[in-house]
Amino acid sequence: MKAAAVGLAAPYTFAQTPKIISEPLGDNLYLLAGAGGNVVVRTGADGVVMVDGGLAQNAGALAQAVAALPNSGPVRTLFNTHWHPEQTGSNEKLGMAGCTIIAQENTRLWLQQNITWPWNGQKFTKFAKIAQPNKTFYDNGTLGEIKYGYISDAAHTDGDLYVYFPQQNVLAVGDAACGEGWPVVDWWTGGWIGGIVGGLQRIQTVANKDTKIVPAVGPVLSLADITAQVDMYGTIYDRLNQMMNKGRGPSEGVEAKPAKEFEAKMGNADEFIRRSFESLWAYLSPDA
Ligand SMILES: [Zn+2]
Repeated sequence: MKAAAVGLAAPYTFAQTPKIISEPLGDNLYLLAGAGGNVVVRTGADGVVMVDGGLAQNAGALAQAVAALPNSGPVRTLFNTHWHPEQTGSNEKLGMAGCTIIAQENTRLWLQQNITWPWNGQKFTKFAKIAQPNKTFYDNGTLGEIKYGYISDAAHTDGDLYVYFPQQNVLAVGDAACGEGWPVVDWWTGGWIGGIVGGLQRIQTVANKDTKIVPAVGPVLSLADITAQVDMYGTIYDRLNQMMNKGRGPSEGVEAKPAKEFEAKMGNADEFIRRSFESLWAYLSPDA
């Protein structure tokens, strides 16, 4: 179809500049929201440490917001809590600047290949070498006082990690916990509904009652919030498991409304239930 002539041709498109909001979490530690996923930033004399980097289109605005924090400086270390674009959008910019990019080894492997999600056809292009994590680990590690570790339950992907800042008692967990609405169950890269429960239980063991737990989406959570989530996802997991054992499929699972009592607070669960059911199949089938 031929476009109708209009009086004003747009010579360029206006890129939407995101509004990055910063919230203090403790000494030299901040939560930056608005870049596409929550980002935790520690400033100080040793250089800046970041957990996740928002979407690529927001990397410039995020870098400006980081530079404007008190005691800021060059970013020396970036953690990728997993491979999704909301977490890895600053990789290229910071990788080119010589930053150490830490990730669990599986995250690096995902970023080295093209990925297409089968449920919606969304495509993700593999990263250039410079943008890939350049320091990977399997189980856990330390960076000064910072402790990080693998969330091996496959809560969201098979490469989830947490980063714990003991001095401020802050635990960044990426999408292994969700602060707002239902999480994406990315079974294509290893996540599953049983792993959501297992990952939350692991977070319970790392956190204490005063820990501020920062998810990739939504506000800061407490240990009590995580405990409530363990109960909720545990209930849903049990129901789906029972249905699957009776030979039901994803559509029957959705129709049975196994998350009905949680929807008033959490929103419609249909998409989440369908993905969760598919994740059971993916996880339990022998060649998965
Ligand atoms: Zn994610």
